[in-house]
Amino acid sequence: MPSHRVVLIPGDGIGPSVAESVKKVFAAAQVDIDWQEHQAGVAALAKGNDVMPIETLEAIEHFKVALKGPCSTPVGEGFRSVNVALRKRLNLYAAVRPVRSLPGLKTRYDDVDLIIVRENTEGLYSGVENEVVPGVVMSMKVATEVGCSRIAHWAFRFATRRRRRKITAMHKANIMKLTDGMFIRSAQNVHRTEYPNIEYDQMIIDAGCMKIVQDPTKFDILLLENLYGDVMSDLCAGLVGGLGVVPGANFGDTAAIFEAVHGSAPDIVGKGIANPLALLMSGVMMLDHMAEEKDDAPLRKAASSIRSAYERAVAEGKKTRDLGGELGTDAFTAAVIERLAG
Ligand code: NAD
Repeated sequence: MPSHRVVLIPGDGIGPSVAESVKKVFAAAQVDIDWQEHQAGVAALAKGNDVMPIETLEAIEHFKVALKGPCSTPVGEGFRSVNVALRKRLNLYAAVRPVRSLPGLKTRYDDVDLIIVRENTEGLYSGVENEVVPGVVMSMKVATEVGCSRIAHWAFRFATRRRRRKITAMHKANIMKLTDGMFIRSAQNVHRTEYPNIEYDQMIIDAGCMKIVQDPTKFDILLLENLYGDVMSDLCAGLVGGLGVVPGANFGDTAAIFEAVHGSAPDIVGKGIANPLALLMSGVMMLDHMAEEKDDAPLRKAASSIRSAYERAVAEGKKTRDLGGELGTDAFTAAVIERLAG
């Protein structure tokens, strides 16, 4: 009997295809997981359910860990983002996106190793938008002391556990004095009172973007509010090969959802060319998290063996098209499976 039950949300667009690839690699690596498949997003709507079915939420609350494919959100109209709803409803307030150079994947920089920590529940993602009078609309940026201090604590705790040296908070507190002002004041306080051993600095985000594209190797952990974290994640993905190689996780105090940074990629759906690596890397983050929570050596070993397999595949030139290779989703999946330690 498999002992680890994990919720799997295949999602929309390329989601089901990259999720299938992860399932195949996990099965080949004999990871002891019993997938509890649930729907969300357009896939749920298509089955006559709500975009965010209550069963899916309850399953994540119950099993505490989920791997999620991307969910589409209509632009400028229609239902609100399922991703934002999930993170808010389950209070997954910390998003983590490790951005690392992959061995064998030549990009402008060789040694990028930075981690984005994004506040996931407040800011302009609060969804407080209204029409003041016809022709005038507004969107409210919300920051709370509880939210700002919670993410600052999380980031410093994370930096300590992962033995990282420095946190850089990026902001626009010169313009948004109250909201971004509260965000950086919280980070400064947590640094000064609890974690003086970890280096801390802060910069205005526009200058920060320029510095990152000039030399990302100078950065370690970036601490960002919601919208800046979203934009910065894609920017940083571009530094290491694109959205196909950046995984992610959303953590709360009781549950965690692992998902790639990329979306449902409607432009390539059904072509068999989606890169499953970002979701596979998110799956490996998930195994590491479960191994840490449960002190489970086989899970840790499985994570390490899958990581070596995909790193070797890429280093040996087995790449999907977005990374400059020629393989489709299935062929890349097979290349990873061939390289799993026996
Ligand atoms: P996207 O990330 O889906 O695609 C951006 C570009 O990157 C496209 O050209 C796409 O083909 C390419 N790309 C993305 N992932 C890829 C992969 N694995 N392999 C190869 N190429 C890949 O961003 P978008 O087009 O702005 O958004 C599409 C939809 O996804 C929207 O509805 C958006 O709301 C949603 N979205 C969901 C999430 C999520 O579920 N967490 C995140 C971002 C966007």
